Amino acid sequence: MLELSRALLEGLWTVFKHLFKKPVTLEYPEKRREMNNVFRGKLEVSGCVGCGICQKVCPSGAITFKKDEYGKVYFYKFDLKKCIFCGNCAFYCPKGAIKMTKYYELACEKSEELELVYKGGCDD
Ligand code: SF4
Ligand code: SF4
Repeated sequence: MLELSRALLEGLWTVFKHLFKKPVTLEYPEKRREMNNVFRGKLEVSGCVGCGICQKVCPSGAITFKKDEYGKVYFYKFDLKKCIFCGNCAFYCPKGAIKMTKYYELACEKSEELELVYKGGCDD
């Protein structure tokens, strides 16, 4: 009985202590936490020259290229369903064409929305 009362009091004391603490969580989605500068979120690609290095260093096979008969890339795809956001592609891209943004809200209804597809050759 004594032990039960003690446990109850400890529980109440814990609740009481937390009544006056600032919450560590945010009321998402009304409030969103600002990600820091090293956060690796959704990829953005711009200024790609089609060298294919990112595809070679991607550990999860998330990057696909298609080349024409002259070796020019006319289609490339970053599949965020496979991406583990390791940042390898952005780190090794010689043109700095890949940016890891702070955007992390990737939930969507259609899986195709998680495929970043670029057609018509790489940016010049
Ligand atoms: S994104 Fe960068 S590493 Fe990948 S093919 Fe384009 S230029 Fe090369
Ligand atoms: S962040 Fe990593 S897993 Fe995602 S596409 Fe780049 S190399 Fe592949």
